[in-house]
Amino acid sequence: MRFGCLGSGSKGNAWLVQAGDTRILVDCGFGPREADKRLARLGLAVGDLDAILITHEHSDHARGAAQLASKARCPVWLTHGTHAMLDAAGIAPLSAQIIAEQQKFAIGALEITPYPVPHDAREPMQFVFTDGARRFGLLTDAGHVTAHMETVLSGCDALALECNHDVARLEASSYPYPLKQRILGRYGHLDNAASATLLQKIAGRGLKHVVAAHLSAENNAPELARAALARALGCAHDWIGVADQETGLDWREI
Ligand SMILES: [Zn+2]
Ligand SMILES: [Zn+2]
Repeated sequence: MRFGCLGSGSKGNAWLVQAGDTRILVDCGFGPREADKRLARLGLAVGDLDAILITHEHSDHARGAAQLASKARCPVWLTHGTHAMLDAAGIAPLSAQIIAEQQKFAIGALEITPYPVPHDAREPMQFVFTDGARRFGLLTDAGHVTAHMETVLSGCDALALECNHDVARLEASSYPYPLKQRILGRYGHLDNAASATLLQKIAGRGLKHVVAAHLSAENNAPELARAALARALGCAHDWIGVADQETGLDWREI
């Protein structure tokens, strides 16, 4: 089982999870041409995808999903709420599969557990993936951490955790006040410290990979996110990976 990333941040998100011959794309905030280019970096073509999962309707996650799914001729898995919002925007996928929180489902060699997160979208979900032996937990776009999120993410072998911003940087930034309030709010985004606190609670002995995700270009820096997560684990800073907006993240074997 392995995972990689095509790009992470407010300009576009997409993650890849593979087990055996099963390849799943999570989110597609890139247009078809850009997605092609980024898939090729990880050695894949659009036709290799078996399914696309969408976490929520925000354009940095969903903008390219329907188009890419048509090209890939694969289904798109999403919640009813996300589907309704994409439908209203005229970009609902043609072959939609509706998912519900805590209802596990299987795609090929992967079993997926969707779990709800507090975020200012209609029905946002994040996911834990397993091939039966290992577990990969993905978490972005959450305003705060719930007890349920801690339970679902505990003991994963690999984690990608949102480190959206450094609170002091965001507060000092030129962002308009309402936007700051949105990001800092209970339905906004996780900051480095909140993510580090979560990591400390959920890290198990088998943890092989930790990747910081969805970093703000203006209000964060890779070294700040790395330092926060490394402090939580007591590990070297460079053991923590960072999913980059432009270059994503190369495959990591779990
Ligand atoms: Zn986002
Ligand atoms: Zn979002």
